[in-house]
Amino acid sequence: MQTGDVTSYDEQKKMMYFSLAAALVLLGAKVAAAVVTGSSAIYSDAAESVVHFLVVCFAVWALRMVHKPADESHHFGHDKISFLSAGFEGAMISAAALLIFYEAIRQMIGGVRIENLGFGIMVTAGAAVINLTLGVSLLALGKRSGSLLLRANGHHLLTDVWSSVAVLVALGLYRFTGWVWWDPIAAILAAINILRVGYKLIRESLGGLLDESDPIIEKRIRHLLEAEVSKRGLSYHNLRHRHSGKTHWIEFHLVFDDFLTVGQAHDEATEIEASVAALLHPDARVISHLEPKSAEHRDERWEER
Ligand SMILES: [Zn+2]
Ligand SMILES: [Zn+2]
Repeated sequence: MQTGDVTSYDEQKKMMYFSLAAALVLLGAKVAAAVVTGSSAIYSDAAESVVHFLVVCFAVWALRMVHKPADESHHFGHDKISFLSAGFEGAMISAAALLIFYEAIRQMIGGVRIENLGFGIMVTAGAAVINLTLGVSLLALGKRSGSLLLRANGHHLLTDVWSSVAVLVALGLYRFTGWVWWDPIAAILAAINILRVGYKLIRESLGGLLDESDPIIEKRIRHLLEAEVSKRGLSYHNLRHRHSGKTHWIEFHLVFDDFLTVGQAHDEATEIEASVAALLHPDARVISHLEPKSAEHRDERWEER
């Protein structure tokens, strides 16, 4: 489990450095395209790419923190930083979306003049291809490794692909129809989509910070626990679980017959803990509280809801 984790971390790190390099290259290209074309849709894209670069810098730093082991002052590790990173990513792209609204409306009122269309189209299409490739890879690795941080960055990049598609469609329509308003309209549509993803990221980040439980995971844990305890003639209660960004934490009480020795009960509990941990591979910490039937429900006061 340990070596698998290390490999996955190296892969995640490499992917985030790719994302950072792409962010820097696209920042330069998009700012240049915005200046030479004067298109408000491309300007929006460039404004987003400034924010984009800052966000990815933060995420690269946060990824190092996620994988820093537990220490004297952080007994549960540092992986909750993932939620901060995803929330920051959501908040920053939402701020960029507001700026895009402002700029599009300003252009609608002040009038638009678009020049050097070819260069703008080339940069935007290139950006879309890069972001699509990276975004899909980030999402896949994020899902495989259970990393919210990578998934958040993947969702963000795919949002940017949609923004680029909107720009391309607008510039194409402008070329054929000559109607300049396609441009700010595309910018506004892109901004609405960015807000939608920004909201989703902020929502998921808050859920994580407040240890929101995943009902699908809960169902799987209960299913396994029920099979384990009925096989052994035991019962369980007080199941609690949370996900801290990288690690699943699960706890529950196991009720044994009074006459069992601590050693015997502990052996059974250890086996059950191991099968729950295997269910939530690759990173799960399971702890169970052992109690005799005669004391069941007498010791629950400390965690009453
Ligand atoms: Zn972006
Ligand atoms: Zn209990």
